Order: sequence, then C-alpha cells, then structure tokens
Amino acid sequence: MSKSYDYLIVGAGLFGATFAYEAKKRGKKCLVTDRRGQIGGNLYCEPVEGINVHAYGAHIFHTSNKKIWDYVNQFAEFNRYTNSPIANYHGEIYNLPFNMNTFNKLWGVITPEQAQQKIAEQRQHAGTGEPANLEEQAISLIGQDIYEKLIKGYTEKQWGRACTDLPAFIIKRLPVRFTYDNNYFNDKYQGIPEGGYNVIIEKMLAGIDVQLGVDFFQSRENWLKKAKKVVFTGMIDEFYNYQFGQLGYRSLRFEHEILDIENFQGNAVVNYTDRETPFTRIIEHKHFEFGTQPKTVVTREYPVDWVKGDEPYYPINDEQNETLFKQYKTLAQYDQNIIFGGRLADYKYYDMHHVVYHALETVAQEFGE
Ligand code: FAD
Ligand code: UDP
Repeated sequence: MSKSYDYLIVGAGLFGATFAYEAKKRGKKCLVTDRRGQIGGNLYCEPVEGINVHAYGAHIFHTSNKKIWDYVNQFAEFNRYTNSPIANYHGEIYNLPFNMNTFNKLWGVITPEQAQQKIAEQRQHAGTGEPANLEEQAISLIGQDIYEKLIKGYTEKQWGRACTDLPAFIIKRLPVRFTYDNNYFNDKYQGIPEGGYNVIIEKMLAGIDVQLGVDFFQSRENWLKKAKKVVFTGMIDEFYNYQFGQLGYRSLRFEHEILDIENFQGNAVVNYTDRETPFTRIIEHKHFEFGTQPKTVVTREYPVDWVKGDEPYYPINDEQNETLFKQYKTLAQYDQNIIFGGRLADYKYYDMHHVVYHALETVAQEFGE
C-alpha cells in the first residue's frame, strides 16, 4: 500500500512545526496533526479584546545562540520586551531575578560586597557540602532569607512537594546577580514576536496539510499507514502504552479574566511567592506587547497534580522518572521509523530555543546534512 506522506508529524507545537517547515523545504510531503483545536502547542495565543493572550502560560523567547535567534526572526519581528517579573510576598514587593535591587529591599545593603557578605553569613548555617536538593542549592546560592520569602512557597506550590524532595537544577535556571539588573534572563537575545507566537507557527505551517482535533492514539494504525515516517512530539510513555509505568508530570489550571480597566498590575508577570496564595503568578498579557487597549486580560496560574488526560505541562525530572524515561528511550531506539522530539517525547524541561535547536539537529540528522 502506498503511503501518501513522507512524514506524519504528531503535534503542531514548535518542534513539529519546525520539523515540518524544514522537511517541506527539502521537498518532503508532510501531514501535521494535533489533538488540540489549534496549532502552536503551548505557544498558542488567543486574541481577546485586541490582546494576544498566552493561552498556555506566558512565553518569552530568549537565547544566546545567534543561529537560533536569526532562525526565529525569519518568521516574525521581535519586540524589545525584557522579562522583569515582580515578586509579591504577602504584599511586600521584590525585584526578580535575585539581584542588587532584591538585596537592597530585603537587607538595606547598598554595595555588592555588602550583599555578598550577607549571603555568605547565611550560607554558613547551611553547611558546605555539595547541595543534594533544591533547598540546599537555593540556600547555598542566595541564603536563608530569600529562600524563605521568594523560593520556598512558590516552589512548593509549583511542584507540589517539599523543596528537600526536588532536584537542585530547577533553581539554577534563575540568575543571581550582584548588579542592579532586573532582567530575568542572562541571554543575549530576548523578545516577544510582534503579533504573538501564532505568526511564527502559521508561517512555518503555510502550505502544509494540517488536521486538528485528532488524537494519534484514537486511530494509531490508520495514522501509521499514511506516512513513511512519523515524528512524534507527544508523551513518550503514552506512545508505549505506559508499559513500564507512568512518567510524572505537573499540570496547570489557567484562570483567564477580562477586566474593564486599562492596567491591572503594571507588569506582565507578578509571582506570588507565599505558600497561602493558591496560584503562583498573575500574567497581564498586554504588557508583553506594550498594549494600550482600553481593557486588560489577566491569567492566574494554578499548579495542579497531573492525572491521565490532563495537559502534561512540566516533566518532573527526578531520579525515579529519569530511570523510567531511560527505559522508554531504549525502546524508542528500536523504532527506526519513529522520530521522537520536543518537550514531551524527550521528557526534558526545554525552553523554546532548546526546542528549535533540537528540531534543527533532528532535521540535519534525518537528511544527512
Ligand atoms: P508542545 O508545545 O507541548 O507541543 C506538543 C503538541 O503535541 C501539543 O499541541 C499536543 O496537543 C500535541 N499532542 C500530544 N500528544 C498528541 C497526540 N496523541 N495526538 C495528537 N497531538 C498530540 N519556553 C520559553 O522559551 N520561554 C518561556 O517563557 C516559557 N514559558 C513557559 C511557560 C509554561 C507555563 C510552560 C508549560 C512552558 C513554557 N516554556 C517556555 C516552554 C515551551 O512551552 C516549550 O519549550 C515548547 O512549547 C515545547 O514545544 P513542543 O513542540 O516540544 O511541545
Ligand atoms: N522560582 C521561585 N520563585 C520565583 C520564581 C521561580 O522559587 O519567584 C523557582 C521555582 O522553583 C521554579 C523555578 O524557579 O520552578 C524556575 O522558574 P522559572 O520562572 O524558570 O519557571 P517556568 O517559567 O519554567 O515555570
């Protein structure tokens, strides 16, 4: 039986769209499918009151890799947005990431030397060994006070477990700086695509067959008949029928609200770092694009335990899950006609620039370049 497509790409997110765009450029015929009703995966933006609402969580593109930056800029122009979240701890306001503005507000210190001394004093209490978990890592990086006010509550809400039970690497994502610089990222390039992320994904998928609202697993055999090869960007454990057990994920519930005011919180991202507030952050979407619309849209982000059927937003990369993932990965090596990629199939806490990087690597490997 003849297969009508070269590639069936399961998942119209950034990985699937990048692969499809590159394969089409090389003369290949692709079919992209998604179980959601729209393209873009977690980058999807919903236009509401003239504002691009980041429907699956706030997305800020950042990278230090010029090749990746140039690559995404061919699809959209990026604005000058710089992420500078504010932390609200029981009504006290602090700048993020942890920098001289944060240290000054917290301790009244003025110079980097004073701040370093303060952190060193606090670190002494924590001991000097290699940090074995997120709590030890955080205290060794920035001391007890910041850990208690800005990390502990937020992190325990976000991940649903104690900081002593979480891997240290999660907190290393955040910069610690001894300059008065509120930029959340250290990367050289950063911004939001003008017109939102849909502009990018629409351009990537232009001229490519797309079927939405269809789940690969509902009709697996039929989908497999359609193409010579499959690019799978969904959950790898689901692909293998959870045969070794379920991988752990963290899910989110987004509560969107339209407000009849121009400016609700004066910043795109405000983190609620206390344990009692049930959400982790409030996003005010218009500020990503310096919007001047008369209304505003805000989103409260509530972390929730993941159960089968929920959106698996975050992989939980602890030891137990890593061991399980390796078993699935080994199985995947025998499936010559399936290419796995993206945040869910690789079970990695990828940012968008990582996803584009890996998609381009996969393309290069696939086409022997
Ligand atoms: P996804 O975007 O998850 O796409 C996979 C697609 O596959 C989905 O659309 C899904 O519906 C579909 N699919 C899955 N299974 C099936 C199936 N069986 N059949 C059909 N379709 C299926 N990155 C940044 O760089 N900056 C940020 O600020 C940032 N913020 C984030 C905030 C949140 C809350 C989250 C969750 C992530 C954030 N990220 C951010 C990460 C970013 O979202 C990911 O790196 C990127 O979206 C991953 O792309 P992907 O294509 O691998 O996966
Ligand atoms: N984090 C924190 N306090 C904050 C923001 C982040 O403790 O105000 C911790 C938390 O554990 C989080 C991690 O830092 O999971 C990474 O934060 P990031 O903003 O990169 O998370 P993401 O945007 O990927 O959800």
